[in-house]
Amino acid sequence: MAGRNGKTSFYDEAMETFHRAADLIKMDPRVRMELEEPDFEHIFYVTVETRDRLVPLSPEEQAKFRDLPASDVKAADAFEPLANGNYVLHRRALLKADITMRSGVMNIPGKGFFRIEKGGPKKFKAYRIQHNQVRGPYKGGIRYHKDVSLDLFKTLAADMTWKTAIAEIPFGGAKGGIKIDPFNYSKEEIEHLTLRFIYKMKGLIGPYIDIPAPDVNTNGEIMAMMMRQFTDGEREHHRLRGVVTGKDVRIGGSEGRVRATGQGVVYCIEEWAREHKFDLKGARVIVQGFGNVGSNAAEILAAMGAKIVAVNDAFGTIHADAGLDVHALAQHVHQNPKNLKKTVAGFTGGTAISKDDFWGVDADICIPAALGEEIDGPVAERLKVRLVAEAANGPTTREGDRVLASRKIEVIPDIICNAGGVTVSYYEWLQNQRLEHWSEAEVNARLEQAIKKNYAIIRDISLNRPQRTPLYDSRPYCVGQQVDVRTAAMVLALKRIEAHYLLEGFSQ
Ligand code: NAD
Repeated sequence: MAGRNGKTSFYDEAMETFHRAADLIKMDPRVRMELEEPDFEHIFYVTVETRDRLVPLSPEEQAKFRDLPASDVKAADAFEPLANGNYVLHRRALLKADITMRSGVMNIPGKGFFRIEKGGPKKFKAYRIQHNQVRGPYKGGIRYHKDVSLDLFKTLAADMTWKTAIAEIPFGGAKGGIKIDPFNYSKEEIEHLTLRFIYKMKGLIGPYIDIPAPDVNTNGEIMAMMMRQFTDGEREHHRLRGVVTGKDVRIGGSEGRVRATGQGVVYCIEEWAREHKFDLKGARVIVQGFGNVGSNAAEILAAMGAKIVAVNDAFGTIHADAGLDVHALAQHVHQNPKNLKKTVAGFTGGTAISKDDFWGVDADICIPAALGEEIDGPVAERLKVRLVAEAANGPTTREGDRVLASRKIEVIPDIICNAGGVTVSYYEWLQNQRLEHWSEAEVNARLEQAIKKNYAIIRDISLNRPQRTPLYDSRPYCVGQQVDVRTAAMVLALKRIEAHYLLEGFSQ
């Protein structure tokens, strides 16, 4: 299908599975049209005041300033380090400071020579795509990343519509975020940007309208800011806590939410292993992305006796044939304030290898848990695994899919594999609406049942194995022929969504 300029867009490509499944179930043409495009595409701009920066001089530039006396700055924390090597200059740096400057350059002992660059207002492009709400309020994450686009957010929002239907939770699909490299901004700037973003979205979101959650480069802290911005000053603000999910447990978040996506990935893998009589104890696993999803999936699998033999992220790859100490790796990445990029690079408990070699590491299971389109044709050719468990959204390209199928490498598709996060988000929302607090055991028991049951239905659709068991009934979903597992997942989603249109009809 051709997009703008006659080229196939990322969205059109992603929607091919939708059309294949819609054909199979002979979807009503008007329902298909309703689902083909998002309900709403909101694109807007967010401005924020940025602070001045200290930018390091190159070695050649430094030569001119060798004789510049060192400045004595008492409030050392007034220089906030950024991942790109710059420092944010907070005004309190001047308190009791003894500073010498020449041509805007300062010599700071222990840090180097810096030029001060003026901050000022900056403008960022922001998005909220609301794909579909026939089954319930729009639901989906907020991503802060330099490579986002309308095309990408449309794809991710549609994925949420399918995912919430597969997880059988009463939500629709949405996604959004800001085009920014958050590693180059201070905590305060990110906070101001987040508040302004929610200020602009105030009319678009709410616990019964659209419910954001964390995604790449956003987390519980950002959700807390969003909740405060949305609810502050409202008369019944406690009734509005469910406006975002993924909050800290101390402020209305759910037990188990931080680990939920990784936990859901592992429940799928367990179910796959049960079917294949494959022992996860001693299984060799490679993981791409060691953020929220990747690190939690890795920690849970390691605790079950699997060996995490290689981990790749945006800044490096580490490998240990006998298995990495995942707990120590998580400490290195997430608990070390000096590790500004939150990367596995520099971890001493493994050997650094190239990203290219990472894909060729001998293993049983590959868990892509970073960004989309990482497993393309050539990568799929290199993989030496039996299973790809798609923890990230859209990690496999069309070509990658074809190669995996030809090499008989099985796939657990993203829309079931990473549905644990949104499922526990629903539990969080329920607890908020009821002013309840559930235990982690209760959350995980519900999650395990929801994920395993729906994954089992998807496998039945794929194998054309209609059956009724004490736990589930796959008979209404099978389509009379075997289909690949990605199409099977979409069939399940579309049958559940279509029922709403067929039974409720259309408002004119
Ligand atoms: P995160 O920001 O916590 O971590 C992202 C990880 O990916 C980091 O380790 C980063 O270094 C790595 N990464 C980024 N670019 C990379 C590249 N080019 N090559 C290799 N690694 C790269 O994000 P997260 O919340 O863990 O999300 C990861 C994936 O899971 C995303 O696709 C997201 O959409 C999906 N997902 C997340 C949730 C959730 O609950 N957080 C739920 C469903 C799906």
